[in-house]
Amino acid sequence: MNLPSFRAKQIYKWLHKTGVSSFDEMTDLSKELRNKLSENYYISSCVIEDKYVSKIDSTVKYLFRLHDGEYIESVIMKYKYGYTICVSSQVGCKMGCKFCASTLAGFKRNLLSGEMESQLHAAQKDLGIRISHIVLMGIGEPLDNYDNVLKFIRNVNNENSLNISMRDITLSTCGLVDKIYKLMEEDIPITLTISLHAPNDSIRSKTMPINDKYGVDEVIKACKDYYAKTSRRISFEYTLVKGVNDSKECAIELAEKLRNFNCHINLIPVNDVEERGNVRSEQKDVNSFLEILKSKGINATIRRTLGKDINASCGQLRRKKQGGE
Ligand code: SAH
Repeated sequence: MNLPSFRAKQIYKWLHKTGVSSFDEMTDLSKELRNKLSENYYISSCVIEDKYVSKIDSTVKYLFRLHDGEYIESVIMKYKYGYTICVSSQVGCKMGCKFCASTLAGFKRNLLSGEMESQLHAAQKDLGIRISHIVLMGIGEPLDNYDNVLKFIRNVNNENSLNISMRDITLSTCGLVDKIYKLMEEDIPITLTISLHAPNDSIRSKTMPINDKYGVDEVIKACKDYYAKTSRRISFEYTLVKGVNDSKECAIELAEKLRNFNCHINLIPVNDVEERGNVRSEQKDVNSFLEILKSKGINATIRRTLGKDINASCGQLRRKKQGGE
């Protein structure tokens, strides 16, 4: 627009640091320039369609409406070290994991980096808080929307934006091995976490179609290469489903596969999703799974459940909205 370069910084800060939703809020720009901007551009922002606050632990879940009428979800969790947001990266998901609500209605579209970032701005404004940590674990497969997700990560990390440390950003993937190799070349010290959920191909392929493309051993090999290249410790998510992947044999096989690898396993009791019919492992089986891993020298913890009373696990609200309930 032939403007002096300092204007770019001003506008960048309004968009990313303040998180305005209209050009009129950019008060240090002339009225004329603001008009010119709004004639040529738009700011994509999330509108709060529904909001649920947990009575148990004050976790907040939002259903956001996007400019084209699509819905996504975000969850805000309070931890000792600050507020964490669980961000959606796509409208729907292509991956088809059998236990997950996000993929039930298929895939609609990728989110733009601004649409991911606006989840933070909308929540921060609504709650009057500063979010310090991000987990890319909402609706969607972040590595299937690679370029927009990377742009999002770099933007929120910028000091003229939200200034969130790379180390406080976690990206969760179902294991797109080609993209894991691409990610390790980016030189960004984020935390990578892998939705593993099974110690071998025969169990994993039953619930995660992606396993037919990239099997367990290939995923673990990519993780070892990622660690060798970045020195960032990988986490594995392992959702325990009764009678499916929670046996002692599974724990032993998993420990064997990850022997001598500096990683962490997060055990997650499965959340019931109405259409999925998964049954949670019994507490005694969860405990014994954990003990077996620990006894074999593997770092493992059981994930604390937050927002249990508000269906805080992702995909469930969007699904309800679509069903017209
Ligand atoms: N697509 C990415 C990120 C979104 S899912 C991924 O697969 O990692 C975030 C995490 O929630 C994943 O580990 C996923 O497997 C898990 N998850 C999905 N449905 C669940 C359910 N019903 N109960 C417990 N965890 C679930």
